[in-house]
Amino acid sequence: MKMKRRCIGLLVCILSALAACAPATPTVAIIPTLAPTPTLTPTPLARPTPERANFDATRAFDAARKLAGEIGARVAGASGAQAADYIASEFEKYGLQVTRQPFEFEGWEDRGTTAQLVSPENLKLDAQALQYSVGGKVDGEVVLVPGLGNRADFAQVNVRDKIALVKRGGVPFSVKAQNAAEVGARALLIYNDAPTSFTGTLRERVSIPTIALSGKSGQDILKLLKNGSVRANIASDAAVEKRAGYNVVGTLKGKTDETIVLGGHYDSVSAGPGAGDNASGVATLIELARVAGAGAPPQHTLVFIAFDAEELGMLGSRAYVDSLSDAQLAKLRGMLNFDMLGAGGGPLLLMGDGKLALLSRASAKELDIDARNSSLPANAGSDHESFARRGVDTVFFMRDYDLLHTPEDTLDQIKLEYLDQAGRVAQRVLERLDAASKSDSSNQDSLKLMPLE
Ligand SMILES: [Zn+2]
Repeated sequence: MKMKRRCIGLLVCILSALAACAPATPTVAIIPTLAPTPTLTPTPLARPTPERANFDATRAFDAARKLAGEIGARVAGASGAQAADYIASEFEKYGLQVTRQPFEFEGWEDRGTTAQLVSPENLKLDAQALQYSVGGKVDGEVVLVPGLGNRADFAQVNVRDKIALVKRGGVPFSVKAQNAAEVGARALLIYNDAPTSFTGTLRERVSIPTIALSGKSGQDILKLLKNGSVRANIASDAAVEKRAGYNVVGTLKGKTDETIVLGGHYDSVSAGPGAGDNASGVATLIELARVAGAGAPPQHTLVFIAFDAEELGMLGSRAYVDSLSDAQLAKLRGMLNFDMLGAGGGPLLLMGDGKLALLSRASAKELDIDARNSSLPANAGSDHESFARRGVDTVFFMRDYDLLHTPEDTLDQIKLEYLDQAGRVAQRVLERLDAASKSDSSNQDSLKLMPLE
């Protein structure tokens, strides 16, 4: 399937900025009234069936320990396979039908990039390839491009078959590089506007190696250029490669083919073991699968999905949603997303403005769990968005968490109480949906999910 290249770092799962934003984001007025409609009243929700199991946070914590404590970083297309195997085996253990959904995406790797001046003197430059830069070996004269690397700037100099040098800032990296390539440069060096080195991402594909230089290295070259020509040698073993990601999909067949998806991403960034983000969500998902598998067959078909490559731009959930036919999509009654719910602070966030989110917050209230609505900053996202984009009703379980995407996002950040709260709310939501579906079973064409309205 076609996967648009995403820029690593932009589409991060949740930004810590959220912590700063949340207080300013007025919490949406939650449920004006919690009184269930009469249709629910006679539904014996609380009556335990012999098979009934309850969400057990200690079991969820064990799953989080396995993922974040034993397996560690789970980078999509690189180090996620062991986690996928583990999740699949857990789902199978609880009676789910497990499939793996493969999907392709573009990954990028730099196996080593060097740049050095070879004339008038030998000088090693502080260089690194920009993410998604192509690799290559280039030896050539360095030409300073005036300005910030707009087309007009390149028109003032001749960089054909040479190495262009331009200052950072003002113009996106990929635009600078495309402008350089367009007029025949063989590589582009972008020097920092501060003395330090920097990294960045090319948002568009560019045909020439595009290398970030520290400001100090840039200034060294500028000095030498004042006295004559400068030659440099670039060797970059960076490459964009096709990678495979795998969603782990566990299905618990219901009495109807109306479907509810429960999902959370199991991939992490490379910086750390991804405990809060998102071993905690997957652990909750696994424990919910156990609870659902132990109970009576549900009304709805429940599809538990551990998504891959969320950190690269929600690629796994997109691939899943893209794989659904219109008919399957029309049967999808809702999606619960569990991401970063087990660490951090503040109340449980149950985000969304649709029926499912309302039901979730009402369920939390019934359980005496402090839960709020909130919203993500524009530059953050998670897997529920892939579903919401296609019109599916979603709710997003999370908490504010500053340590995401850091080496400090370790198992000790996960709080048992947080797993317990999220898990119990989710279980209650599933029970309410089940009960509502039963009460609707004489009315098959009813799309009513919610007993609250
Ligand atoms: Zn996440």
